[in-house]
Amino acid sequence: MTTCPRCDSTEAQMVAESPVKGAWTVYSCPVCFYTWRSTEDEKFTDPAKYEPAFKVRQEDIPNATVVPAIAQRIK
Ligand SMILES: [Zn+2]
Repeated sequence: MTTCPRCDSTEAQMVAESPVKGAWTVYSCPVCFYTWRSTEDEKFTDPAKYEPAFKVRQEDIPNATVVPAIAQRIK
């Protein structure tokens, strides 16, 4: 398990590895659905360096019900 940079959950897991061994690894958080690659900048991968304004509190996730509407299909 890995700590999620966005919500600090410790439930994030590795979901993919590069075809070339050791080039990159993709992780995903099942709590806030943040997904990141190991080769991204530390401000996107390190919980301590993640932009504080973009952090998500786990207790707020169930209340995050505002989802953009699906656009009408153009005929
Ligand atoms: Zn998360």
